[in-house]
Amino acid sequence: MFGAHRVRLNSAYVKSLELAGLVPLVVPPLSNDDAARAVVSRVEGVLLTGGEDVDPPLYGQARSPQCGPSNPARDRTELALIRAAREARKPILAICRGPQVLNVALGGTLYQDIPSEVQGALDHDADGERSARVHRVDVEPDSLIAQAVGATRLQVNSLHHQSVRDLAPGLKVTALAPDGIIEGFESTTEGWWIMAVQWHPEEMNDSPEPWDRGLFRAFADRLAQG
Ligand code: MN
Repeated sequence: MFGAHRVRLNSAYVKSLELAGLVPLVVPPLSNDDAARAVVSRVEGVLLTGGEDVDPPLYGQARSPQCGPSNPARDRTELALIRAAREARKPILAICRGPQVLNVALGGTLYQDIPSEVQGALDHDADGERSARVHRVDVEPDSLIAQAVGATRLQVNSLHHQSVRDLAPGLKVTALAPDGIIEGFESTTEGWWIMAVQWHPEEMNDSPEPWDRGLFRAFADRLAQG
């Protein structure tokens, strides 16, 4: 397959959505923003998935040597998807890269590399099983995340070296790691449902704790409300 270019998605996301009763459609990087808008007009909600580091100039920073490779076509497409979702008030569930690109789309910034930029930070990019619970998260009572999982203190997996730095206007933090890294947020914009988490609930499909499926269930419930 020399020279073939491919679009890939971890199938755990598909399984999570199907387990929640939803029908996933995978959106590849597209060559124009109107196409992204057309996609959003035909779906009920948007799941922003994990992936490459967002290109730092998109949030006004020069690229750090510690920043990983970016995917400009994907950045462009996801920014267009988010803009279209905001206009149409389509719900967004955002995971890992999801909260990062969402925050950038709305005017926020990122840490390009937690270990080199945040003194005393925990290890958020643990080796080992993708489902391993490696740090605590404290969740704001009454937040969408707390309602979805039925708890305010969680033990989560962590597979990221970037995170939200300055949160964009229109968002509020609802989950924090003990080192102060933002692990979850939601929207303060009337009528626009957003649930964003820095950990990976899609890797917990087989866990014995039902709360691990709670975020996808809450997304499905919100979509069912229309
Ligand atoms: Mn983490």
